[in-house]
Amino acid sequence: LTAVLEHEQDLPSETPDGYSMPLMVNTGLAVDAVASLKPRISGVGLYRTEVPFMITERFPGEQEQIRLYRDQLESFAPLPVVMRTLDIGGDKDLPYFPIDEANPFLGWRGIRVTLDHPEVLMVQLRAMLKASEGLDNLQVLLPMVTNVDEVDDALRLLDRALQEIAEEGVSVPRPKVGVMLEVPATLYQLAALAGRVDFFSVGSNDLTQYLLAVDRNNPRVAELYDACHPAVLAALDRLAKESAALRVPVSLCGELAGDPAGALLLMGMGFDALSMNAPSLPRVRAAIRRVPLAAAQSLVSETLALESPAKVRAHLAMRLGEWQ
Ligand code: PEP
Ligand code: MG
Repeated sequence: LTAVLEHEQDLPSETPDGYSMPLMVNTGLAVDAVASLKPRISGVGLYRTEVPFMITERFPGEQEQIRLYRDQLESFAPLPVVMRTLDIGGDKDLPYFPIDEANPFLGWRGIRVTLDHPEVLMVQLRAMLKASEGLDNLQVLLPMVTNVDEVDDALRLLDRALQEIAEEGVSVPRPKVGVMLEVPATLYQLAALAGRVDFFSVGSNDLTQYLLAVDRNNPRVAELYDACHPAVLAALDRLAKESAALRVPVSLCGELAGDPAGALLLMGMGFDALSMNAPSLPRVRAAIRRVPLAAAQSLVSETLALESPAKVRAHLAMRLGEWQ
């Protein structure tokens, strides 16, 4: 089976009825930017910038960051590379920037940290922009957004960074900017967000954690943590439809996209792209190549009618078995 899947890796991510589903890859370390992936994907849907920051002894300087980002952008050009601004806090602490809180997942995380430290965000934005010179494939993603003011503040800093580097003689186009939908509040503010950014990217790992009030890393409650909970699926389906109505492209970059059953559901819901860790690509591609779009859409309606995560899981397993 592995050999079959490997052979299929060079075939399009297309359903038997000819619907093409863009697959993207999540990256963090330089080794993830493997050139062999390039012909098989539509780009990088999530570059987690905090990953390289975790293995340094201090915040990398502008030149160091330019090198890191240039490496990613060049490896995949002309395909888009979605670079997320620093997403620390929660479970991701930098050794040289400890955050000690009683409720880290409800605390100082993602854009909350970088807006409180604009000097950190500015270096990062300047480095991303400079690294994109002549490549034009940079997109910027904002993590842990809770309200539109955060987006406005981040966009102001982006414009300032563009102006600063232009004064230094580097002129690049303004990159597309996206917001992560991972705090439940954003699901009720899609129109306001749509007026400010170019795309949405769902962080299903955090969205699941926050919708279900279940710590994503706590083994005691691991059984309750399930992106296939009917409430999570209903939220995803609704946000996909609302984003389409608002004409904002929406992708999903959490673990659910790398699960074959999850990927089929997301395709059926109408997500525009799925971004996953590279090892998940073969199985997701194989699933898409075996299931017509109409069947994936039926799978969504069948699933949305179920009342518990266990029922959803059992139903997905049964249907996937039929398509093997
Ligand atoms: C997510 O929350 O789903 C996501 C993709 O981001 P991270 O796992 O880095 O929090
Ligand atoms: Mg997240």
